[in-house]
Amino acid sequence: MSGIRIDDVSMIYTLPDGGSVKALDRVALDIPEGQMVAILGPSGCGKTTLLNIVAGFLKPTAGAVVAGGRTVTGPDADRGMVFQQGALFEWMSVAENVGFGPRMAGRPRREIAALVADLLGRVGLAGFADTPVYRLSGGMQQRVALARCLANDPGVILMDEPLGALDALTREKMQGLVLRLWKETGKTIVLITHSVEEALFLGERLIVMAPRPGRVVRDMALPFAEMALVEQARSVKASAEFVRVREEVLSMIWSMEEEIMGGAHDGA
Ligand code: ADP
Ligand code: MG
Repeated sequence: MSGIRIDDVSMIYTLPDGGSVKALDRVALDIPEGQMVAILGPSGCGKTTLLNIVAGFLKPTAGAVVAGGRTVTGPDADRGMVFQQGALFEWMSVAENVGFGPRMAGRPRREIAALVADLLGRVGLAGFADTPVYRLSGGMQQRVALARCLANDPGVILMDEPLGALDALTREKMQGLVLRLWKETGKTIVLITHSVEEALFLGERLIVMAPRPGRVVRDMALPFAEMALVEQARSVKASAEFVRVREEVLSMIWSMEEEIMGGAHDGA
C-alpha cells in the first residue's frame, strides 16, 4: 500500500535575521496508491518544501505525512526521488548509476545486471550501459535518473521539476516516457512542475498551489494522461478540452503572479 496522506502540513522557515517565511499553510491532500498527481504553482509557493517533507528530508512545523500507512519520520527507500538534474554520480557509468541502490542493498551481482539491463531498455538507453554519465545529454541523464529511481522499486516516486532543464523537444519525448513508466509500473507519482502544459498532460489529478503562504487553491481531476495512452501526445495537447483547461489554469496563475507583483510594488 503506497498511498500518501498529507495531514494539515504547515512549514515555517526561520530566517537568520529573526524573520520567518510561512512556506506552507495547512496543506491537506489524500493521494491514493497508483495516482499520478501534478503539482503546479508559481515559484516560491512551497512546492519543493512540500515534496521534501513527503520525502522525509524536512520535518514540518505542524502536521504530518503518512505514507504506506506509516508516519514519515525520515527518508525511506519506498519513496524515490528524481531531481531536476545533477543528482547522478558523474564519474560512474550509466549501469553503475542505475545499479547503485540495489548494490547498496547487497543484492547479488547477477540479479543487479539483469535488472539494470531491463531498466535501460525500458528508458531507451540500451547500448549505453558503459557510457560515463558526463558524456550524456541532459535528456539522457534524466532517463538514467528515472531508471536509477525505478531500480529501488519504490512504491512512491517524487519528482521535482524533472524535465525543467530540458529543451522543448526533448521535454516532450520525456513526458511520453514518464507517462509510459507510470502506466507500466502502477507507481504513485507526485510530479512538480511549473509548466502548465506538462502538468495537464501528465497529471491524472492537478493540484494548483498559491504563495504567501503556500497553500492548495485548486484540486481537479484531469482526463489527458489517460487519453495520451491511446492517442498521439500532440493531438491530446491540441484538443479543444486541453486548450480550454490550459487557458483556465494559465489565467488563474497569471492573476496570482499579478497579485504577487502588485504586492511587491505596494511594499516598495
Ligand atoms: P517552490 O519550490 O514552489 O519554488 P519553495 O518550497 O522552494 O517553493 O519555497 C517556498 C518559500 O519558502 C519561498 O518563499 C522560499 O524563499 C522559502 N524557503 C525555501 N527554503 C527555505 C529555507 N531553507 N530557508 C528559508 N526560506 C526558505
Ligand atoms: Mg522548487
